[in-house]
Amino acid sequence: MTFLKYDLHTHTTASDGVLSPRSLYDMALQLDIKTLAITDHDTVNGIKELMSLQERSVICKTITLISGAEFSCLLGKQILHVVALNIDLNNPLLIKHLLFMEELREQRAERIAKKLIKCKLPDTLALVKIKAAGAQIGRPHFAKVLCDLKIVESEAQAFKKYLGAGKPANVSVAWPDLEEVINVISDAGGVAVLAHPTKYNLTMSKLRRIIASFKSLGGDAIEVSYPGMNIEQQSILKYEIEKHKLMISAGSDFHTTANKWIELGRYPVVPKDIPHVLSRCLA
Ligand code: AMP
Ligand code: MN
Ligand code: MN
Ligand code: MN
Repeated sequence: MTFLKYDLHTHTTASDGVLSPRSLYDMALQLDIKTLAITDHDTVNGIKELMSLQERSVICKTITLISGAEFSCLLGKQILHVVALNIDLNNPLLIKHLLFMEELREQRAERIAKKLIKCKLPDTLALVKIKAAGAQIGRPHFAKVLCDLKIVESEAQAFKKYLGAGKPANVSVAWPDLEEVINVISDAGGVAVLAHPTKYNLTMSKLRRIIASFKSLGGDAIEVSYPGMNIEQQSILKYEIEKHKLMISAGSDFHTTANKWIELGRYPVVPKDIPHVLSRCLA
């Protein structure tokens, strides 16, 4: 089955993206995208705003919007990202989960700020909150503030020097378990998609075990096409997806126009012979 141009993994200013939901929508229109999911980190505020603008006919209805979020979670000690698609935004369990995630990210930000102070850097918490401007706070907001303060030259350097795994301002977070996140998504009537499987720096055998656990816990689909992956990785993923009778999904993980390698709606060719999440989401 083929689908018109779509993107099922994108970020806005509701989390760590640089475009407002409305600007992202306008860009999608220019790129002739017909189906768009907004999947901000642990929040649905961006997609909620866009859907409301569409309902009130403030913006056109040319693009079919799909509700979504990208949830942080843990399988054992491994941090995983699960994209939820087609969720009921009024689901009580989802709302409870989102409130919990907001609190968790707020507390984590306080802990990161303290660790940066221990690194003999200034207190960045107030600036980070201004930078986030009501968004779900993430490490990229710290990276941007460290750039503004000329403490680092780039966001990548902020992660490399301070914020990344094993670096001095990294804090471990008790993110909810994968099982809990899959339950929330399924309670909200959505589809649970394992995001960017090759981006966790795992060996293929570890990744295979994670995919098997994801399936056994009720996961529905795996991203099989996104920027930065290669054909060989895609064919391994395809094999695992077919073995576990999972569906496929694809998206750019777009955050910013500043990164020339990642364009909204652009990702490697998607295999045509495997069930696609869009068959479910557009049904
Ligand atoms: P968080 O969810 O707060 O832990 O932040 C994770 C986000 O930080 C990812 O979704 C990326 O957008 C961004 N990120 C992760 N690693 C890097 C890096 N090395 N350089 C720049 N941005 C990064
Ligand atoms: Mn991000
Ligand atoms: Mn992610
Ligand atoms: Mn993402």
